[in-house]
Amino acid sequence: MSDPEPTATDWSAAAAALRPDPRPWIDGRRVDVDPGDGFRSENPATGTTVAELPSCGAAEIDTAVRSARTAFEGGAWSQLSPRERGRKVRAFAEQVRSHARELALLDTLEMGMPIANALGDMQEIGGHVEATAEMADKLLDEVIPNDPSAWVLNIREPHGVVGAITPWNFPAYIGISKVMPALAVGNSVVLKPSEIASLSCLRLGELAAAAGIPDGVLNIVPGLGGDAGAALARHMDVDVLTFTGSTATGRRLLEYSGQSNMKRLILECGGKSPQIVFPDVADLDRVAEAIVGGITFNTGQVCVAGSRLLVHRSIADALVSRVVAKARAVEPGDPLQESTAFGPLASRGQFERVRSHVAAATEQGAAMLLDGTPASAGGACFWSPTVFADVTPGMRVAQEEIFGPVLSVMTFDSEDEAVSIANGTIYGLTATVWTADLGRALRLARRISAGAVTIGADPARGRVDATTGAFEPHRQSGLGVEGGLGGLRSFTRLKSVTFKS
Ligand code: NAD
Repeated sequence: MSDPEPTATDWSAAAAALRPDPRPWIDGRRVDVDPGDGFRSENPATGTTVAELPSCGAAEIDTAVRSARTAFEGGAWSQLSPRERGRKVRAFAEQVRSHARELALLDTLEMGMPIANALGDMQEIGGHVEATAEMADKLLDEVIPNDPSAWVLNIREPHGVVGAITPWNFPAYIGISKVMPALAVGNSVVLKPSEIASLSCLRLGELAAAAGIPDGVLNIVPGLGGDAGAALARHMDVDVLTFTGSTATGRRLLEYSGQSNMKRLILECGGKSPQIVFPDVADLDRVAEAIVGGITFNTGQVCVAGSRLLVHRSIADALVSRVVAKARAVEPGDPLQESTAFGPLASRGQFERVRSHVAAATEQGAAMLLDGTPASAGGACFWSPTVFADVTPGMRVAQEEIFGPVLSVMTFDSEDEAVSIANGTIYGLTATVWTADLGRALRLARRISAGAVTIGADPARGRVDATTGAFEPHRQSGLGVEGGLGGLRSFTRLKSVTFKS
């Protein structure tokens, strides 16, 4: 691709010229597999086929796990000094940056993310990988005070083979952010990306090899969740499974672990994040802007999307009218145009899911203030911002994760009521509080059950900064720590060593 800023025509030409390799990456090379009952990935902006992929299953997963185990036992990666591993992880970040356009384009084609956002993601994740590289030699072991005739050490070591299963909403971003911390502390990895968007993750194999990461240390196997995903989650020689995806699948993975080898799980699952607005906020326009950003960024397909607006009754009309006006102004566009900020939903399945939730909300009596239903979808999956008022906390639209640009508005009269509604779902991923009262902000930060609480900030890209911030979901939003040094520790286990004289 050319170096100057590409135009939409350049992107379309680059898309037409792409010949993405859909084969699995195992033991440092692309592997031919019988396409058998393969599956297609589709461009949700056009309904056209992007690629035909082989549907790998237990056999390919087993080969990949064996390769990962052999690499781990061989020590070419696991026994490197942490600083040397860090250097190679940094080299991987450089590979991501220099292939940012290709990775971004693959994600845009397969799941419809606007190209400017996809490029931004690649810059951001490049920075996070660099930070991970810098942390590789900062996990210090401990010497435990004991009687003078003994030295007791607590040392951290890699688990061995880590399985990673990822979703489609930020394909390359989440793939990279799952894999790199596990690698940085010496594990080998088998990654199974989402069947909706696998191609950018499959490219990571070549980038890892170019960065000097040895063969077998990173393996990537495409396939369906119930086949390749379940085979990885049930494998007897996978030590840790790190997963990002729905709560329903997360529950299944807990069962698979119990049915197989009790592998450790790190689960980052769904959310129904509240945005709580108190009447003391100074600038309702700014709040409305952030609320609309929080439900339209990536077409609402963000785990931390602020999909529930909880607003104090006294300012409800003033805020909601602003939100509706700003949401109405959000225009869907061609994801290959650099100016597009709002693309289609990622797939036909996602489109149908949004449609059924919107229908259920109407049936249950919510008032539709803004209708995002497309007049005619054709093969494309565009859905515009949709706003429901008169929502009560028990309605499906207030309880279930929709994963689309659908906002549910509820009102409250007191702080206690706001906390009760905010905590009244099975999820506990993130929350945002809008108030000028510092005391209230601090009280709510403690009372709200969520892994991350943001006070008065724009949550539109509300992911925790993985560079420094560790994050642990509450309740059925998942379990285990991701991000920062805490996230690196998740991929190690503790060993106690005693020297007695
Ligand atoms: P999903 O659970 O349907 O699929 C996620 C992955 O799991 C895919 O790779 C899929 O193939 C695999 N899978 C599905 N069934 C499986 C099975 N039986 N065994 C093993 N693997 C299986 O989720 P999705 O639709 O791809 O992604 C959307 C979900 O991801 C939303 O719920 C969203 O909130 C969540 N998510 C969470 C975070 C977070 O950090 N908490 C971030 C992004 C997305």
